Amino acid sequence: MRIAALGFHHETNTFQSVKTDYDAFAGYEFLRGDEIADQHLTAKTSFSGYFRAAEKFEFDLVPLLWAFTGPTGTITKDAFDRITGEMIDLLKENGPWDGVLLAQHGAAVSEEYSDMDGEIARRVRQVVGPDIPVVMTLDLHSNISHEQASNTDAIVAFRTNPHLDAVERAVEASDILVRTIRGEVRPVQHLVQVPMIINIVKQPTAFGPMKEIIDDVNDVLQQNGILSVSCGQGFPYADVTQMGVSFLVISDGDMDLAEQHAKWLARRAWDRRVELQNDSPSIQESISRAIAAPSDGKPTIIMDVGDNVGGGGTADSTHLLAEAIDQRLNGENSLLMSLFDPDGVQLCISAGIGSTITLKVGANTDDLHGDPIEIRGYVRVITDGKFEESGSVHGGMRFWDYGPSVALDTEDGYTIVLHTVRGVGNMSRQQYYYMGIFPEKYRLVICKGTVSPRAAYEPIAREIIVSDSPGVTSANMESFSFVNRRKPLYPLEADTKF
Ligand SMILES: [Zn+2]
Repeated sequence: MRIAALGFHHETNTFQSVKTDYDAFAGYEFLRGDEIADQHLTAKTSFSGYFRAAEKFEFDLVPLLWAFTGPTGTITKDAFDRITGEMIDLLKENGPWDGVLLAQHGAAVSEEYSDMDGEIARRVRQVVGPDIPVVMTLDLHSNISHEQASNTDAIVAFRTNPHLDAVERAVEASDILVRTIRGEVRPVQHLVQVPMIINIVKQPTAFGPMKEIIDDVNDVLQQNGILSVSCGQGFPYADVTQMGVSFLVISDGDMDLAEQHAKWLARRAWDRRVELQNDSPSIQESISRAIAAPSDGKPTIIMDVGDNVGGGGTADSTHLLAEAIDQRLNGENSLLMSLFDPDGVQLCISAGIGSTITLKVGANTDDLHGDPIEIRGYVRVITDGKFEESGSVHGGMRFWDYGPSVALDTEDGYTIVLHTVRGVGNMSRQQYYYMGIFPEKYRLVICKGTVSPRAAYEPIAREIIVSDSPGVTSANMESFSFVNRRKPLYPLEADTKF
């Protein structure tokens, strides 16, 4: 049994001014053939799950291509044409296939295709024809579309946020694929798009109303005749018609059953819509709460929601840093954070380790993320930015590259790490450990994320404050000018009916 595996994986924030071009993939993670096993075999990603499934279910997995970069702006037509073109050529040249595994995100947008994942599924279907099963794995933040569903035999999305179940879901998807090829099951899937947004601050699955939604999903999974159930939590920073919450139920040959369960899930989520909206504190309140926190040797973690790198943030917002300075947070190890700042890194490298320099840091991409802030800092570390994370972190990536990076210590007791690769965020504490920096020792750690840093920081936090900071991934959905999204959509149209 020969199964092709390939993926062109991107979460696109269409409000970000920086377009995502071919080099953004080529310079990040663009792997072909055996290179994919080198990076993913021991990781905890979807591809890693495909490899494990191949062993478990005894099929020949043929990894063809994997293109991935951090969440950034709309994918250029050139990048789409070249990467998709190569995927389709590889699929044609290396066939025939018994099945296809597609590792997509579900919230990718290119200049030409507002539903890039749906278009890729359509082209893959065109190559293999209607009789070869195509199964697609997606991120929980997928905006699942009818195009995606109608061009695949099954879609399986993550069910945890932070995303810690990529391997399990990939194995589940592979299981459905193999059983379909053997003729043991006949998956049919029904999609219901709910006219609502789940605010980014209410998306963690371990507690609150989102946990109740996943509990419902798990209940349906236990029902007779059900092969898989996915909730597309939605990625709200994509101005496209499929943006929003969706439920997809796969049954074994019974479309009515799939439809009935999908509608039940949609209704239950809709009934929780009020609890699923933004109620997070302002940056002023977040910083004063961090300053007022007792010094019990554990850091307060502030999530910088407006600069959520996992959602397309620029990684250089200074709003919270400016507020900490304004409110005179200081003292030994008072604050730790990272900023994307290639010019700052260059200045520190030129000055050299052990020098003390004055420079402006951050806010170098656009005018949504504060002003560059002047700091005077001691250059403690200069490094290549590469490290390995073998623990469980959001998304399961093992090998990380922040590009040339430096650590600066200021007289106020702040440690600011500057790095040169943008879309990497704060999902692993190894980001600091490998530089000899211990986040545990700080009073306040600012993380550029909303949910994704939780897996790394919950174990050491005294409290996690999810802060309503401004920026391209703000929790304040009214601050975005949507043109293409579907209407009505709660809470943007408060009187939405469903
Ligand atoms: Zn996600």
